Amino acid sequence: MTNCVFCKIASGEIPATIVKREDNMLAFRDLNPQAPTHLLVIPTTHVGSLNDAKDPDLLGGLLAFARDLARDAGIEKKGYRVVVNTNPDGGQTVFHLHLHVLGGRSMRWPPG
Ligand code: AMP
Ligand code: ZN
Repeated sequence: MTNCVFCKIASGEIPATIVKREDNMLAFRDLNPQAPTHLLVIPTTHVGSLNDAKDPDLLGGLLAFARDLARDAGIEKKGYRVVVNTNPDGGQTVFHLHLHVLGGRSMRWPPG
């Protein structure tokens, strides 16, 4: 997708603080962090949202990747949250599938 900011991060066209990369996914720091640890996990090929994700293996891989990032960040024991905002009511603003990994503080429930 030519005009997708996360595709551009995946291709290196725009900069990001990349913390982990695998064959078909990568993680980078959120530009506007909502917690001491706030990482985004994306597939490197364009998928618009969770609704468009056809490959369950990719979805499982993204979730395992997010779990491993939480371990690497040292927030695994105290706890963390993985969020997939989907479409406008879900609060999605960037239409390239991404998982938020949030931790380093206590999360509230229900979310806003
Ligand atoms: P969402 O609202 O779930 O679509 O989340 C999009 C997230 O992407 C927000 O938390 C933004 O702060 C973050 N974001 C947008 N542009 C960038 C960027 N260029 N680099 C890093 N994070 C970004
Ligand atoms: Zn994209």
